[in-house]
Amino acid sequence: MSIEPAADLNTAWSARDLAAIWHPCTQMRDHAGSVPMIPIARGDGAWLIDQNGKRYLDAISSWWTNLFGHANPRIAAAIKDQLDRLEHVIFAGFSHEPAIRLAEELLRIAPPGLARVFYADNGSSAVEVALKMSFHYWRNLGRSGKTRFVALTGSYHGETLGALSVTDVPLYRATYAPLLNQPIFVDSPDCYMREPGESWREHSLRKLADMRAALETHSEEICAVIVEPLVQCAGGMRMYHPAYLTGLRRLCDEFGVHLIVDEIAVGFGRTGTLFACEQACSDQQRFTPDFLCLSKGLTGGFLPLSAVLTTASIYEAFYAEYTSRKAFLHSHSYTGNPLACRAALETLAIFRDEPVLERTRALAAHLATRLVAVADHAHVAEVRQTGMIAAIELVRDKSTRAPFSAAERRGLRVYLHGLERGVLLRPLGDVVYFMPPYVITTDEIDLMVDVAIAGIERAVA
Ligand SMILES: *Cc1c(COP(=O)(O)O)cnc(C)c1O
Repeated sequence: MSIEPAADLNTAWSARDLAAIWHPCTQMRDHAGSVPMIPIARGDGAWLIDQNGKRYLDAISSWWTNLFGHANPRIAAAIKDQLDRLEHVIFAGFSHEPAIRLAEELLRIAPPGLARVFYADNGSSAVEVALKMSFHYWRNLGRSGKTRFVALTGSYHGETLGALSVTDVPLYRATYAPLLNQPIFVDSPDCYMREPGESWREHSLRKLADMRAALETHSEEICAVIVEPLVQCAGGMRMYHPAYLTGLRRLCDEFGVHLIVDEIAVGFGRTGTLFACEQACSDQQRFTPDFLCLSKGLTGGFLPLSAVLTTASIYEAFYAEYTSRKAFLHSHSYTGNPLACRAALETLAIFRDEPVLERTRALAAHLATRLVAVADHAHVAEVRQTGMIAAIELVRDKSTRAPFSAAERRGLRVYLHGLERGVLLRPLGDVVYFMPPYVITTDEIDLMVDVAIAGIERAVA
């Protein structure tokens, strides 16, 4: 009896892919060399399975979108049910039950004071909506001198031209800079930059002085400040203390500018609370952003959808006679897609039915214990963690924190090692990070960390 060699379906599909597709965030020539294109056939919980049947633990939740596992049966069933009812309908003049229920549910769980939901279909579009709404609000009030935005250094808010304008990651921004509006970039409270002996809280609070100075000088021309709360993700998983947000809210009020909170990556439990900005609340003070941008995990990672939540007073500034031309204009064909709304409703139902936050806190605590040992590594400058996001900052020299030359692509070596060992890690430059789906087990966390550490050893050798 002869045994058929297993067909190498990966090679066949990868060749067809590379002959026809142009991938995002990719130098396509890499795939002609050492970097494989991996065709995924199916997903199962925290795992991805390629055409050859090899399994990869998805340690980055497929670009931070997945919360409750690939092919999650509850979310899949909800979408299937919706498919036979209504796939899509124009969202001007017409509405539908999933979008209405989802808006009600989002307002119920969001920070108090948010009263309206505007839908779009991806994170960047949500940021575009928030920027345009803020600008248009001030214009409707006769404040047309307000045309600029403030963003933090190291920020990432997406890659469409408006969102890219308030992004400060050179990889994405530098080439396209001539096409972009110039915001006012203010020094980030990023705690990697804190002084020796300084606490996260002290450092973050100290950085409010830079924000105050910018607002003092420019508030007459500023529409809004936009921030990623607690974790600047694409900028290298740089983290800061919630006290910064509390202070920032006060400064925005004092100087009459909006605060746009971009929770596209950190919303829905990532940081240990349902929304990251909840951590800026205290008994004395509630925290309400003027705009809250949500996407990624909103549909559990199933379908593209985003939402911008805002306050009643901002909504009211647009509510007027048709001829006043005060109405907000930003329309996408697939606004409020019913399938995506059903996926989101089911995702939020899982949060209601299961002790998700308790579980992720326990998983985060386990992850923290596994990362303690890495901190002493000769090429690790810092290990940092906020909830279910943890990052290891690799450097050439631990004492001076001098980075490796970017051309050495050390992070890519960790990526390739991970693929070999069946773990999808995708370092941001030399920052190796973990952002797994909440269905990951403690054993899988151990595997993920072990593979990452072995990959780091190989990468820095
Ligand atoms: C991913 C991301 C975006 C952009 O979302 P897309 O859906 O990729 O356009 C915006 N802001 C933050 C903080 C993000 O992480």
